[in-house]
Amino acid sequence: MAQPPLEPAARRCDDSGPPFGAVAFDCDSTLSHIEGIDELAGPLKPRIAELTARAMSGQLALEAVYGERLALLAPSRAAIEALGEQYVTTALPHAAELVNALRESGKRVCIVSGGIRQAVLVFARKLGIPDEDVFAVDVFHTRAGAYAGFDEDSPLTRSGGKLGVLRQIARDDHRGGAAFVGDGITDLEAAPAVRRFVAFGGVVKRAEVFARAVISCDRSDLAALVPHLFATDEIERLARVPRHAPLVAAALKAR
Ligand SMILES: [Mg+2]
Repeated sequence: MAQPPLEPAARRCDDSGPPFGAVAFDCDSTLSHIEGIDELAGPLKPRIAELTARAMSGQLALEAVYGERLALLAPSRAAIEALGEQYVTTALPHAAELVNALRESGKRVCIVSGGIRQAVLVFARKLGIPDEDVFAVDVFHTRAGAYAGFDEDSPLTRSGGKLGVLRQIARDDHRGGAAFVGDGITDLEAAPAVRRFVAFGGVVKRAEVFARAVISCDRSDLAALVPHLFATDEIERLARVPRHAPLVAAALKAR
């Protein structure tokens, strides 16, 4: 006999509010407008994008598409460097300002991505996030720069992989727990590891993810995340600092 569907409320993540000691972001369709792997696809983009969309909405397990997509694309070192630059140019509004405000408020800021580490690093450096706080998937190249495979042991190539990475980030934090912002089903899977999961729909709004998140944001301006990630007294402090005041003003406008 078929099981009756769970009540939406019963399937929701737990949530508790700021302040947080660590804040992690997904990269693709969260900090940046693009899905990196789709951008590497050239003429194969429709086929690759369909696989990505099915994985991000939970219709396909990530591990079922991860190796397949990369094997089809075999991205060169040069292509991955170019992708890094593309992340930078497609950053959402206030990405760097938000990261800066979080870090200057004493928080650890991480990127946890199923994307290619070498490309995400280019973006992270631009945002002021240290290399050691970037969790993504290494790809390998020959000395001449030809594609030579990816880190098949990385948990971030598999469904449920972000949960372990976020658990470690939450364990390492001793100042109020962690929050995680992401758009995909692989992000939602990590929600049990953190005190707050924010379903982000500013680029793609995925119904399955929004249905289960207590906190969601469908604005494409990352300033809209400020009230979800900072406590009231932290926001008041930021508003008094000239270099952070525009972010706070944008947050008020984005509400
Ligand atoms: Mg994403």
